[in-house]
Amino acid sequence: MSQKIQAVKGMNDLLPVEQKDFPLTSEFWQAFEHTVARCAQRYGYRQIRTPIVEQTGLFVRSIGEETDVVGKEMYTFADSNDTLSLSLRPEGTASCLRAVIEHNLLYNGPQKLWYMGPMFRRERPQKGRYRQFHQMGVEALGYDGPDIDAEIIAMCAALWDELGIREHVTLELNCLGNRDERAAHREALVAYLQQHEAILDEDGKRRLHTNPLRVLDTKNPDLQAMADAAPRLIDYLGEDSRAHYQGLKTLLDGLGIAYVENPRLVRGLDYYNLTVFEWVTDKLGAQATVCGGGRYDGLLENLGGKPAPGIGFGMGIERLLLLVREHGCLKADNRADVYAIYQGEGALLPLMQTAAVLRGHGVNVLQHCGVHSLKNQMKKAAASGARFALIIGEDEAAKGEVTLKDLHGSHGQVTVAAEQTYTQLQQWMEA
Ligand code: ATP
Ligand code: MG
Repeated sequence: MSQKIQAVKGMNDLLPVEQKDFPLTSEFWQAFEHTVARCAQRYGYRQIRTPIVEQTGLFVRSIGEETDVVGKEMYTFADSNDTLSLSLRPEGTASCLRAVIEHNLLYNGPQKLWYMGPMFRRERPQKGRYRQFHQMGVEALGYDGPDIDAEIIAMCAALWDELGIREHVTLELNCLGNRDERAAHREALVAYLQQHEAILDEDGKRRLHTNPLRVLDTKNPDLQAMADAAPRLIDYLGEDSRAHYQGLKTLLDGLGIAYVENPRLVRGLDYYNLTVFEWVTDKLGAQATVCGGGRYDGLLENLGGKPAPGIGFGMGIERLLLLVREHGCLKADNRADVYAIYQGEGALLPLMQTAAVLRGHGVNVLQHCGVHSLKNQMKKAAASGARFALIIGEDEAAKGEVTLKDLHGSHGQVTVAAEQTYTQLQQWMEA
């Protein structure tokens, strides 16, 4: 026997059944996709789909060379002619903005967009952290807020409500100000970090000059006290930034969306300014963030577009669904309404014809295939979870009739003319 070939580490199959180390089924996933697409639609956001592969330079320029995502986690390879470096997308914003610029979408005015699909990061796989994972995200381009900031946060909250997890997630909020404010803060921060250079870990020492704000984002417990006492960006914000932040908080208060201000929230990617936020949970261990986002007013210009403000978020679908499965509610019932059974050669065609008519009325019909005894087929019908069995034997076939059996309820069994099948079923379903 040849050796089996396995999936790539950290990349999951989505199956109709639960796997021991990955309990999300394709049907659960599908139900989520439907829910989230409806939610985006209700807010007037339109979908965008971009390729999974982009030029590496797109991510270097937008996400930033010094970030973990670009520095360590990207799947990068040379295209066959060796001149072009390509990467699997590690997130959705850069591709979305690239497409918006390339197709000049903002010419038609501001855009409210959403996307969903696989992303790739070479991280250490663990529960809630994979190498191929999926994000749903929105990007609102051409609006300078804070009304739009509040809108996308409210959209998240509405989705959490619908998924039954609102009480299990907390909104953390911060304001990163503008470039000058960050520069002034950065100067003070670097001076402060230099005073503490001796205790910094390797990451900290490296980031001290490249990306000092990220030193404060450290998960190293030995550095928490130092990070807590560091100069706070919020104290360097000017009037406009403060007004924007206050405007957002006032709207959130009015909408009844609770938040926790976290002055150390900086987010992993370099492109953010003003509003940044994360939705975190204490139910998924170390993988606490289910959704993160913020404003990136300079990014369109940085990628070669006309200057225009932007804000967006990305949610990790695996993390979110692990949370929903344990603590929320999402109905994923793809069981058939009817299990179709036949006995004898002459019964097969009438069965397939009747099943086709039912499907035409929107009834889900799972047809038995292969030659098996009636008893065996009835067992399969019961195990399938279908509500009804549709049975055609030689006798029924000869008379143009069918038998319907209620497998779980109290309707029993009736034999009707084949043309009456749907009417009869409808009566039972509505009863
Ligand atoms: P973390 O701090 O957990 O690594 P991040 O800041 O790198 O997250 P973002 O780039 O903000 O994550 O991506 C948005 C969301 O995508 C995250 O909040 C998370 O829910 C999800 N996500 C990110 N990386 C992974 C991954 N490797 N596996 C599964 N989900 C992920
Ligand atoms: Mg990460």
